[in-house]
Amino acid sequence: MPHGVYSVSVTGAPRQDPLLALNRTAVDRASWRRSEASLQEGLLDDPRTAVLDVLGDRVPMRARDGAESYGDATLVLRAPRPSDRDLVTVYLGEDDDGRHYVAVLHDESGERAEQLVDLPAQGVLLDLRAAGGILDDAGAGLATTAIAMAHWHRTHRHCPRCGARTEVVQAGWVRRCPVDGAESYPLTHPAVIMAVTDPDDRLLLARGAQWAAGRMSVLAGFVEPGSPSSPPSRARCAKRSACACGTCATSPTSPGPSRRR
Ligand SMILES: [Zn+2]
Repeated sequence: MPHGVYSVSVTGAPRQDPLLALNRTAVDRASWRRSEASLQEGLLDDPRTAVLDVLGDRVPMRARDGAESYGDATLVLRAPRPSDRDLVTVYLGEDDDGRHYVAVLHDESGERAEQLVDLPAQGVLLDLRAAGGILDDAGAGLATTAIAMAHWHRTHRHCPRCGARTEVVQAGWVRRCPVDGAESYPLTHPAVIMAVTDPDDRLLLARGAQWAAGRMSVLAGFVEPGSPSSPPSRARCAKRSACACGTCATSPTSPGPSRRR
């Protein structure tokens, strides 16, 4: 299994979107159901519900027949367990066969994490940077949503007004303060990621000093509030690489795992 694969460098069979590996889904989020009373409890009592374990920023997955190219990996899903009720859960939606999906968020993210899931043969825990390009459409959509929601829950456990521990409501999509009723919603942080090329069509790559040996990336950065998309691309290019950037073209948008600045 290729650790450290970056989305724009993955090659293989034609993909649904040639650039944005995480911009795929095969599950209806069914967001209108989130306000149903006891939705999660009912789904966690139903053995047909598909549970996705999220351990830190990683999800369990396996490759089909050992293949490692685009769309050849699937998530490892399981039936609900009674212990799932003790953890934060997020309703992910329903597929065309009427199967419902729920993410179960574990605090454990270290080596012990692998002991919490029953990994099958060829199973492994991977983050989106490694898995996003090789998961199938359903897996890419579920993993992107579940990992982003796990990060938000992990970093927004207390009320921003009074500091009280917040409660999880709306099937995992809202946190509410029991003291003053303040509600917190998952944050989205607009960001740009840039393919900077020169007249010879060479791609500019950069690497962070703290990164593992051999890891490189195209340039990327957050979009500041109120800023249009193209100027930040130029500004980021100049800031990160000291290269002047000319004409900018915008490609389709894509979801990604949320990160605080
Ligand atoms: Zn509060």
